[in-house]
Amino acid sequence: MNILDRYHAMEYGPAPEARNEADAWLAARDFGKALFIGGDWKAASGGKTFETSEPSSGKLLAKISDANAVDIDAAVAAATKALPKWSAASGYQRAKVLYAIGRAMQRHQRLFAVLETIDNGKPIRESRDIDVPLAIRHFIHHAGWAQALDKDFPGHKGVGVVGQIIPWNFPLLMLAWKIAPALAAGCTVVLKPAEFTPLTSILFAEICERAGVPKGVVNIVQGGPEAGGAIVNHPGIQKIAFTGSSEVGKIIRKATAGSGKKLSLELGGKSAFIVFEDADLDSAVEGLVDGIWFNQGQVCCAGSRLLVQEGIADALIAKVKTRMSRLRVGSPLDKNTDIGPLVDATQLERVKGLVAEGARQGAVCWQPDAALPSSGYYHLPTLATGVSPANILAQEEVFGPVLATMTFRNTEEAIELANNTRYGLAASVWSENVNLALHVAPQLKAGVVWVNGTNMFDAACGFGGYRESGFGRDGGREGMFEYLAAKLPLGQIIKPATTSAQPVEQADGSAIDRTAKLFIGGKQVRPDGNYSLAVATAKGKLAGEVGLGSRKDIRDAVSAARACRGWPEATAYNRSQVLYYLAENLSGRAAEFAARLTELTGASAKAAREEVEQSIERLFLYAGLADKFEGRVHQPPARAVTLALHEPVGVVGIVAPDSSPLLGLISLVAPALAMGNTVVAVPSERYPLLATDLYQVIEYSDVPSGAINIVTGRSAELAGVLAKHDDVDGLWVFADAETCAQAEAESIGNLKRIWSGNGRGLDWASDEAAGDAFLRRAVEVKNVWVPYGD
Ligand code: NAD
Repeated sequence: MNILDRYHAMEYGPAPEARNEADAWLAARDFGKALFIGGDWKAASGGKTFETSEPSSGKLLAKISDANAVDIDAAVAAATKALPKWSAASGYQRAKVLYAIGRAMQRHQRLFAVLETIDNGKPIRESRDIDVPLAIRHFIHHAGWAQALDKDFPGHKGVGVVGQIIPWNFPLLMLAWKIAPALAAGCTVVLKPAEFTPLTSILFAEICERAGVPKGVVNIVQGGPEAGGAIVNHPGIQKIAFTGSSEVGKIIRKATAGSGKKLSLELGGKSAFIVFEDADLDSAVEGLVDGIWFNQGQVCCAGSRLLVQEGIADALIAKVKTRMSRLRVGSPLDKNTDIGPLVDATQLERVKGLVAEGARQGAVCWQPDAALPSSGYYHLPTLATGVSPANILAQEEVFGPVLATMTFRNTEEAIELANNTRYGLAASVWSENVNLALHVAPQLKAGVVWVNGTNMFDAACGFGGYRESGFGRDGGREGMFEYLAAKLPLGQIIKPATTSAQPVEQADGSAIDRTAKLFIGGKQVRPDGNYSLAVATAKGKLAGEVGLGSRKDIRDAVSAARACRGWPEATAYNRSQVLYYLAENLSGRAAEFAARLTELTGASAKAAREEVEQSIERLFLYAGLADKFEGRVHQPPARAVTLALHEPVGVVGIVAPDSSPLLGLISLVAPALAMGNTVVAVPSERYPLLATDLYQVIEYSDVPSGAINIVTGRSAELAGVLAKHDDVDGLWVFADAETCAQAEAESIGNLKRIWSGNGRGLDWASDEAAGDAFLRRAVEVKNVWVPYGD
C-alpha cells in the first residue's frame, strides 16, 4: 500500500462536540415557566405543555409551556405598555441595547450552537459556523440602523407592536432576522418560535434579561398553531411578520385581510440550481452539497431542482454521485457529520412519502450505499433523475435531502424550466461566463440569485421571495421598511359606490354609438357583455356612457398586460421619455380635461385646472424618477458583491378612487409605469369619463400596446376579479373598506402584493402623495450575489 492508498483508506475518527454545558442548562431550567412576558417567566395560563425532543435519538428534552390566547393577550399588553418609551428612545439608546444583545450572544456562542443542534438536529458545524455567527451579525448590524433611522428613513416611524411567527429550520437565525430590525425601528415584539425548536429562543430571552432589554420590549411565547393564530388575530398588533410554509402564509393573509395590519411573508421555495456547460463542475458539485444537503435540505431556499445543460449532464451526475457517497450521515454533534437527522418523525415520513410518490411518477431515485444510525430521524441524501417537469419532486417543496434533476438544451429553456414553479425564492446560476450569468439572473423569478455560489446570506442584504414564496424582505435596508410606516397624507373615508351610475342596454346600432369603450391591448374595445354604464354630471344629467367591464374583459386586459414585453424591457430612459411625452400631450388638452372635471364633479373651474395641472406635474415627476429610483450594491463580509436590483413587480392592477378622479388615477398609474410594470386600471366608478378621455391621449403618446389597459365598470366587482387572477402580480386598491378587505382575502391564490388604502383615500394633491413610497411598492428587490477572486 503506497502513501496515496493509505491516504484514501483513512477513516475519520469520531469528533463529538461536548454537550455538558447544554445538558446542565437543560437540567437547571424550569420549562414549565417558559413564557417570557413583560420581562417575567410565566407558566401557560391553561396549564398545558408540549414536548420537544432530540431528533438524533427521539429522546425527550423538555416539556414546554404551551401558550393560549390568554397568554398572547398578556404578551401583547406587555409589548403595548413598553412601546411608548422604547419608540421614543433615541437611536443611540436602542443601538446600545442591540449591540449588547449581539455581544452577550457572542459570549454564549458555543452554548447556542450546541443547543440548536440538540434541538433541531442540524450538524454542529452548521450551527457553530453559520447559524449562530449570522444571528449575532444581524443584531450588531441592526444596531447601526437604529441610529441611522432619521437620516435614512425620513418621514417614517416604527409600526408599533409586532407579532412574529417563525419556523423550526433556523430557529435562532429566524428569531434574529425578525427581532433585530423590529427593535431597531422602535417596535416592540411578541415572537412565537416553532414548537419543534423552542430551546435557543428561551436562551435568547435570558440574554435579553442580561443585555438590559427593557421589560416588555421583547416577549417570547411558546406554542403551536393556536398561539400563532391568537397572535395573527390580535387587534393590539400592528404588524405580522411570518416565516413558514406557503400554506400557513395563505391562512395568515386571509385572516389579516381588512385588519390594516402590515404583513410580510417569507415562505417556501423550489429553487433552481442551474449548471451551464461552461461551469466549473467541481465547484458546482460543492455548491450542490451546500445547496441541497445543507441542514438536511430543510432550507426554504434549498437548490432542490438541479437543471443541467444536456452536454454535461452525465459527467455532472457522476461527480454528484461520487460526492454523495462521501457525505457522512450521523450524529449532528460530531464535527465531521455532513448530514444529521430530520427535525421530527412526521417530517421524515413526509419526505419518504414524497420520494416514493416521485418514483411512482417515473423518477429514478438513487441513494448512496451508507448505513443509517439505529435511532433518530435520518434520511439518506437522495438524487432523483429522469424527473419530468410535472413530477411531484419537481413541483412540491420536499424540505428534505432530495435533489430532483432535469436537463435543458439552451439558455431560454433553462430560464423557462427554472421559472416553471409557483414559488420564487432563490436560484443559483453556475457558469464561468459572468456575462451569461448576469444575463440569466434578471430573468429568473426569484428574490435572490447566487452566481457560482449558493445559500449566501448577510444582514445587509435583503432576503425574500416572489410569487408564492411570499412578499417583503428580511435584512438590509428593504428589511427595515417592513417595520416602518411611511407618513402618507390620509384622505377621506371612502364609501361604497353609490348607484349614481346605472347599467343601460346598449343601442342596437341604428344610432351613432358614442359610448366610451374599454382600452385593452392598445385598442378601444367594446365590453364583452355589451352593457354600459350611464355616467351622470354633477347636475344629475347624462354625461355619457362607458362600457360595463366584466370578468372576461379583465382577463383580456391582464393577457394584454402580460404579453406587453416592450414596456418592462425598455430602458428606464426610454420609459421616462414616454411619460414626459404623455405629460406633454395631456397639457395640450388641459382645458378640455378641466372642463370635464367641472362637468362631472362640480369642481370650480380653478380647482379643476389645478387638478389637471397637478396631474401633468405628477407625470413629469415620475418621468424624471423613472431612471433614478435605482438599486444598490452591497459589500457583505465575504468575497462577493451583492447587487440589489429594482425590478418591476409585473402586471399591476389599480383600482383608482373617486376623489380627484384624474389626479388619483395618474398618481397610482404613473409610478407603476415608471418602474416598468404593465397596468390594468379600473378608474373611478363614478367619474370614468376622465379615464376614457385619457386613453385618447395615451394612444398618441408612444405608450406600447398593453402597457396600460383601462377597464371601466363596477369597482368592487372588478377589484375582486383582479384579486383572484393569478397572472396579476400586484394590486393597489383605493376603494371602500369592504372592497379592500375582500381584495386582500381573495389575493391568496398567487399571494399577490396588495397595497390597500383600507377604505381611505389619500390627499392626492399633497406632495406627500408621490415619490419613493409609491415607487417602492412598484418594485421587487432582487439580490444577485456575485463572488469574486480565484
Ligand atoms: P409552518 O408554516 O408549519 O410553521 C411555521 C410557524 O407557524 C410555526 O411557528 C407554527 O407553529 C406556526 N403556525 C402553524 N400554523 C399556524 C396558524 N394557523 N396560524 C399561525 N401560526 C401557525 O412551517 P414549518 O414547517 O415550521 O417550517 C417550514 C417552512 O418554512 C417551509 O415551507 C420553509 O420553506 C419555510 N421557511 C421559509 C423561510 C424564508 O425566509 N422564506 C425561511 C425558513 C423557512
